Amino acid sequence: MPEQVADPQLLSLVIPVYNERESLAALHAEIAEVAAALPERVEIVFIDDGSKDDSFAVIRELAAKDDRVRAIRFRRNFGKAAALAAGFAAAKGNVVITMDADLQDDPHEIPNFLTKLRDGFDVVSGWKKVRHDPWHKVLPSRVFNKFLSVLTGVHLHDHNCGMKAYKADALRELFMYGEMHRFVPVLANARGFKVGELVIQHRARKFGHSKYGWKRFIKGALDVVTVRLLTGFGRRPQHFLGAWGLAFVALASFGFALLGANWLLCQFDALAGMGPGTQLVGLILSVGSGLLGTQFLLTGLLAEVAVARKWLDQDPFSVAERIDGR
Ligand code: UDP
Ligand code: MG
Repeated sequence: MPEQVADPQLLSLVIPVYNERESLAALHAEIAEVAAALPERVEIVFIDDGSKDDSFAVIRELAAKDDRVRAIRFRRNFGKAAALAAGFAAAKGNVVITMDADLQDDPHEIPNFLTKLRDGFDVVSGWKKVRHDPWHKVLPSRVFNKFLSVLTGVHLHDHNCGMKAYKADALRELFMYGEMHRFVPVLANARGFKVGELVIQHRARKFGHSKYGWKRFIKGALDVVTVRLLTGFGRRPQHFLGAWGLAFVALASFGFALLGANWLLCQFDALAGMGPGTQLVGLILSVGSGLLGTQFLLTGLLAEVAVARKWLDQDPFSVAERIDGR
């Protein structure tokens, strides 16, 4: 993200837009009303994420009337995370608030977010406590939030809320790709920023339709694993993979030791040893664990090599002394 000095008197609103033509004018009017009562100046940054309707024509009209409106148009649909990343890079304010373009988020919450930031939080995430979405969205979302909270230790009710506020410092350090916008609080927390939550009003979608179907939950679940790994072990993968590797190798060693002891017992014809069936199962399990453990360890090593790329790119020599007389 390019380095730029944030304007302390400016609040940037970053709004991703994908096929929201009917909502934009009303949204702009509501924002203008709220902005009039704020002490800071406001800029409104719309990111048109490759809309197929004439959303951008509407944005262009708004910008012609109101010079606080800025806009970026993507060549095609790159997804909400990409739209937010572009908005963050363009935003000039010291504080940035993101909101959805579909009028589901209420601009009247803006002052409440600002208060919460002043209370000392770096990132404040909205919580749609009373949510106006269909049950097949609300229910899986509850499960997702609980799961993510427990797994990452960042306890929020609504990780993926579109309305969030950031101090500029925090968002300069957020790296988003794919659909990582769902994990902004987790990513910010992993960088040491203080993350808080604010209950907000939510409204039903009046125009257009949701861009995300049930597939979001499959993608979301896969991304949870990625985020947990990246934030936890991204810089030390062998600590994760190697730990599992060692556990399986230990299991295999234990199995082989048992089989060996059994073989010895049989040699001395002492107490009856294991039956042949038990021996076979023991052997298969031990060999399987051994192979699995070795796989984990070797993959861990490769992962470490990938992470240590910069280190490996150092000069392949180290000079002790030079005599450089002429
Ligand atoms: N959005 C976007 N790119 C996409 C999908 C959505 O910029 O590929 C925007 C969309 O226009 C809206 C916000 O992201 O402003 C949230 O999308 P939506 O309302 O469909 O999500 P939901 O509220 O159903 O979770
Ligand atoms: Mg919506």
